[in-house]
Amino acid sequence: MNAQHPAATPYRGYTTPRPTSTHRSSALEVRPTVSARGLTKTYGPTTALSGVDLDLWPGEAVAVMGASGSGKSTLLHCMAGVITPDTGSVLLETGHGVVDVVAGDAEQRAAWRLEHLGFVFQQGLLLPELTAVENVALPLILSGVDRSAAVAHASTWMRALGLDGLEERRLGQLSGGQQQRVAIARAQVGDPALVVADEPTGALDSTTSAEVMRALLDSTTGRGRTLVVVTHDRTVAGFCDRVIHLADGRVVAEEATR
Ligand code: ADP
Ligand code: MG
Repeated sequence: MNAQHPAATPYRGYTTPRPTSTHRSSALEVRPTVSARGLTKTYGPTTALSGVDLDLWPGEAVAVMGASGSGKSTLLHCMAGVITPDTGSVLLETGHGVVDVVAGDAEQRAAWRLEHLGFVFQQGLLLPELTAVENVALPLILSGVDRSAAVAHASTWMRALGLDGLEERRLGQLSGGQQQRVAIARAQVGDPALVVADEPTGALDSTTSAEVMRALLDSTTGRGRTLVVVTHDRTVAGFCDRVIHLADGRVVAEEATR
């Protein structure tokens, strides 16, 4: 998917190559979807992030791996504007301009998340009182889209994820893999620039996990969106273009998977 990424190299700081351009200052310049620099975060005596720099490019899928407690979720949440780092910057290219994710107040960040980001978690975090299609439509409804238009658009995403016929089901009437595909549909429905997934296959068997990863990639990088996936699973990471390894809140290695 991203031929510009080199074969695995030892980590030397910014190893992510910029796509080659002879017009670096022109409007045609390709900018990272997310550009994070110098991220640090401590919780009392615990250092969660210790100076992370990371660029995520349009159309690329990046896996973040590392031992439990290495800072993976903290990094994901800083890049997504869910938590504010102690120091450092995060710029998000929305497709309509660049947003400084760190600079915004909580209300602005919530608005940016709704408009520009999609989230998939280990447990789908679907609302049990809503039907599947209502869960998928929820980000649009929260953004002020008319309910029937939101449900119609949500239905097209459910079809794209192989969930047609399941629109009216509730959480308990869906398998684990179906629930994750509902969560993926919900993450795409607002046409986000960036989709972040934290252990999206962590609760699934290996066959379902592969199906869910394919669905996740088709609906993100397959449409030019950027995907970042936290995973413990080498097979899941192998679906991505690049793997970033964290240890003690630092990037300690980066490898291309193809
Ligand atoms: P990972 O996702 O790689 O397991 P996290 O980013 O969740 O790691 O956590 C990194 C470190 O920061 C861990 O030591 C964790 O206990 C700590 N940490 C994360 N969030 C909090 C929090 N809200 N309060 C206190 N410590 C936290
Ligand atoms: Mg985590």
